[in-house]
Amino acid sequence: MSVETIHTLVIGAGQAGVAMSEHLGRNNVPHLVLEKGRIAEGWRSKRWDSLVANGPAWHDRFPNLEFSGNPDAFVPKDEVADYFEAYAKKHDAPIRCGVEVTGVERLSGRSGFRVETTSGIIEALNVVSATGPFQQPSIPPLVPADANVRQMHSSDYRNPAQLADGAVMVVGAGSSGVQIAEELMRSGRKVYLSVGAHDRPPRAYRGRDFVWWLGVLGKWDAQAQAPGSEHVTIAVSGARGGETIDFRRLAAQGMVLVGMTQGFTDGKLTFAPDLARNLDRGDANYLSLLDEADAFVAANGLDLPEEPEARVLGPAVDCVTNPLTEVELAEAGVTTIIWATGFRSDYSWLKVNAFDEAGRPRHQRGVSSEKGIYFLGLPWLSGRGSSFIWGVWHDAKHVADHILIQDAYLAYTPQD
Ligand SMILES: Cc1cc2nc3c(=O)[nH]c(=O)nc-3n(C[C@H](O)[C@H](O)[C@H](O)COP(=O)(O)OP(=O)(O)OC[C@H]3O[C@@H](n4cnc5c(N)ncnc54)[C@H](O)[C@@H]3O)c2cc1C
Repeated sequence: MSVETIHTLVIGAGQAGVAMSEHLGRNNVPHLVLEKGRIAEGWRSKRWDSLVANGPAWHDRFPNLEFSGNPDAFVPKDEVADYFEAYAKKHDAPIRCGVEVTGVERLSGRSGFRVETTSGIIEALNVVSATGPFQQPSIPPLVPADANVRQMHSSDYRNPAQLADGAVMVVGAGSSGVQIAEELMRSGRKVYLSVGAHDRPPRAYRGRDFVWWLGVLGKWDAQAQAPGSEHVTIAVSGARGGETIDFRRLAAQGMVLVGMTQGFTDGKLTFAPDLARNLDRGDANYLSLLDEADAFVAANGLDLPEEPEARVLGPAVDCVTNPLTEVELAEAGVTTIIWATGFRSDYSWLKVNAFDEAGRPRHQRGVSSEKGIYFLGLPWLSGRGSSFIWGVWHDAKHVADHILIQDAYLAYTPQD
């Protein structure tokens, strides 16, 4: 069987793979990108219909291509996918779609890797895994599959009409859970939302979007999550032109907030008594960003309009002061549970020495502990921005630089 060879193989053509290809191409590194679906498949088919980008168009993009249209708008997900497709075309990215990588292992006795794909074997000196920060839906094993309720992960949710009639329990109040819960409530459904620890930055403050504040306050540059905040999700939304997530407002509009989902017995979902604490934590995070923003304005003499009303939090709501500790699903008419509980990774196909004891990629800014294996697009790969559109572009540049530097070492021969 003939074996195709390539200098660098990139796996996945989401934003990470497209950015990687741009940097490799710019440096004339022969490479190939394999994608099992279509370019930006995640944005096309793994998000709900009404999703728009969480950040405004001027920010959530690659540095050298702007979105057409209003830079302050939040771009619909299909237009984000179109953007990456156009970007790949603009850079003549050598992307082969419809090809899945099923195995990667080191060649013995020489450099490089043997890559098994659904269309044959490829040998590559370097392999960049750009297979996404959010690979496999993760659902806590709480409610048995045969319970009398439909269960789905947020990545399978599309729109309210897809669900059977009845109330919906959304578990997880990060950006996905809270947006899905609000969409369902607006469509006329009774919605329960299970809220854990979260940050909820103001969508905008003193005339600037929070992505701007995170930029000027140096928060995008954070290299690691603050200790203890690994399970703290972030609740932001670009829906309806962008709004601050305000759980009290949602509750006042009829959403029933409950604490962290803990268990399921006899048809009842049970919740931790932590709702008020989780909301207080979210409020503290919200107010701390306002404080930092005000201090930045004062220190730099900026002329940004004051916004004292942003500090007024809504009145207490009954579901927070008298929280439910359990919901009997049938009695409450809950026909669907949507688990907005995040994702896990699956690297079972990558059989190399680049993982720690817990199976997590072992790397420094994407350069793994196995020479020639690189990761891109992971959350916190180099910092807070790494799994976001603009951040992955900079990480890809670093990885491409590393590949070039290694090539230069290998090409070196002493003059004498
Ligand atoms: C609901 C949601 C909303 C988000 N909104 C924003 C936002 O507004 N702004 C922002 O900056 N970020 C956002 N993100 C985060 C991030 O931008 C996206 O998750 C983005 O899709 C990640 O890009 P990626 O290229 O790293 O991974 P992916 O988009 O997941 O791309 C990985 C690609 O690899 C392919 N692949 C996987 N395994 C293989 C294999 N073995 N062989 C071949 N191909 C393979 C997949 O088909 C996929 O196309 C959002 C994430 C989610 C879940």
